[in-house]
Amino acid sequence: MHKPDERGYFGDFGGRWVPEVLVAPLAEVEKAMNEAFGDPTYWEEFHALLSEYVGRPSALTVAHRFGQPRNATIAFKREDLNHTGAHKINNTIGQALLAKRMGKQRLIAETGAGQHGVAVATIGAKLGIPVDVYMGAVDVERQALNVYLMRLLGATVHPVTGGTQTLKDATNEAFRVWAAQCEDTFYVIGSVVGAHPYPFMVREFQRIVCDDGRIQSQGRFGRLPTDIVACVGGGSNALGIFTAFIDDDNVNLWGVEAAGKGTNTAETAAPLAVGSVGVLHGSRSFLLQTAEGQVKPTHSISAGLDYPGVGPEHAYLKQSGRAKYVAVTDDEALAAFHACAASEGIIAALESAHALAYAQQLAKERGEEGLIVVCMSGRGDKDVTQIEKLDGKALVAEVTG
Ligand SMILES: *Cc1c(COP(=O)(O)O)cnc(C)c1O
Repeated sequence: MHKPDERGYFGDFGGRWVPEVLVAPLAEVEKAMNEAFGDPTYWEEFHALLSEYVGRPSALTVAHRFGQPRNATIAFKREDLNHTGAHKINNTIGQALLAKRMGKQRLIAETGAGQHGVAVATIGAKLGIPVDVYMGAVDVERQALNVYLMRLLGATVHPVTGGTQTLKDATNEAFRVWAAQCEDTFYVIGSVVGAHPYPFMVREFQRIVCDDGRIQSQGRFGRLPTDIVACVGGGSNALGIFTAFIDDDNVNLWGVEAAGKGTNTAETAAPLAVGSVGVLHGSRSFLLQTAEGQVKPTHSISAGLDYPGVGPEHAYLKQSGRAKYVAVTDDEALAAFHACAASEGIIAALESAHALAYAQQLAKERGEEGLIVVCMSGRGDKDVTQIEKLDGKALVAEVTG
């Protein structure tokens, strides 16, 4: 299924599970989106910014040394080379242009690690639209650099002090603000999550990743990949690189969740692997929840994958079997991060390192004809301080142990 049905469902998943006050603003976004999607001038402006500002199309790089010895070929789709260092900018440009077209005066966004907040602040600055970002107070402390970046870019960051003071609470606050001020405010959501039409809309902005990638694969290899591998937090980079290949039954699609300390532990962030069906942030999908339906705390080494839910289209692709989902632990991701840096000269984001870890394994199982394209969703500059600390600890343990 390529489009959700009229009620916003991909099979059994998705929909619009929101309080009454959000029904009208969501319907307004949906109407404006449908009009914009049918207007070539809207897409012209989108593609112009992607090429002149983001630097698209991002490269497809053959990884000659990563994961050797192996038989299959591995190539990286380089979203890390985009302006701001990840795929998130593709989506924020699409939504900001829609806001402009709707005559909205302000962009609001939730952010956890701060990556989405920075991407919204960036396009807000570029288009001259004020930006307010809601961020859990704990995350504001933990992600001081991104808070500073958002402020440099002219955005206002609002620390949210309710609940666990993290992403979940920031999202609730952004919804509350939007409900009160939707007249002049556009809510920019950071992944293929939330109520209809967001999961579909965000996917349509991110599918540029595979629209480019398909052409590049044909041009470089004369054929399509055998396998596509992408990490899954909310799931936007994965749907970005999956979508153009959905009808190619012989292209295997792999989504890689964060197992954290292991999917058999409480410290995990893999709802498709070990979650159950429920409602989170306006849509029905898999999530990590208790038997009573309370959202569970999650853990991943990578802030961008540390989310208890997942986009509804992934739930559908899992159920239909079109995509397969696996989980990679913190330690496996960290090892792949180091291997990629040392063998390819690429500092990957810790999120992307999860996809790298699984691709490495797959490349050993596949024969010579295997052609595995990994979505390098972002660059790891943001993660190196954290990794340095982790490695420092490991080093001490080695010496004293
Ligand atoms: C935010 C982020 C992710 C996770 O988000 P998705 O919506 O699942 O793509 C993955 N990689 C990077 C680099 C990110 O910044």
